[in-house]
Amino acid sequence: MPHAPQPPPSRPAPPTGRALPTGRALPVVETFHSIQGEGSHGGRSAFFIRLAGCTVGCSWCDTKHSWPADGHPGRRPEELGQAAAAAAAAGAAFVVITGGEPLHHDLTGLTRALRAACRRGEGPPLPLHLETSGVDRLSGAFDWITLSPKRHRPPRPALLAACQELKVVVHEPADLTFAETMAAAALAHRQDRPGDGPVLLLQPGHGSDQGQELAVAHVLANPAWRLSLQTHKLLGLP
Ligand code: SF4
Repeated sequence: MPHAPQPPPSRPAPPTGRALPTGRALPVVETFHSIQGEGSHGGRSAFFIRLAGCTVGCSWCDTKHSWPADGHPGRRPEELGQAAAAAAAAGAAFVVITGGEPLHHDLTGLTRALRAACRRGEGPPLPLHLETSGVDRLSGAFDWITLSPKRHRPPRPALLAACQELKVVVHEPADLTFAETMAAAALAHRQDRPGDGPVLLLQPGHGSDQGQELAVAHVLANPAWRLSLQTHKLLGLP
């Protein structure tokens, strides 16, 4: 006697539309899904949110178009969460909030919205990364902080204590002295966590032959440091 057709095995229900927190709109230069080109997570698929606004004023900045906060569209955290969720579905392994100087803004609402939106099924939310110069108070909740301190605007101690990665851009010899000073300060601010220092990265300034020579020589002679290259630029990626 033929069996009655059985219903297909049930699958875990997709995440239901949970109520997302509301938050203030933030000025956004661009969002894009690409390869993280720099640092410890270089070579991995990531979704980038580039916030507008920066008053740090580095002469060699390669994102000067991000300096004015005005003139860039405001996007609400929920909308950015949806865009990040779409990137996660397309393979992004983490979300990078960059700028500009993202901490010119209160990132609490944005990181809440991203955590609520960026889940893979029932798994944990996508890790959230921050790229900052550290001149402002830390806001939001992050899994990875890349601190890129500037000689003319030193970072806050709290960022030195919190960062997982310290990345110093090198153009001239004084940058190496500054890099060592920042590395020592990062350790000094986490004496309660011995052995928990940040990854130390030297990154030659874009197009700076002297910076490249200095960074390579310093890394060769100092095994605590690693060389960081902007591989996305070599590949012509955003
Ligand atoms: Fe450019 Fe970053 Fe310096 Fe701001 S902190 S001027 S975005 S390099």
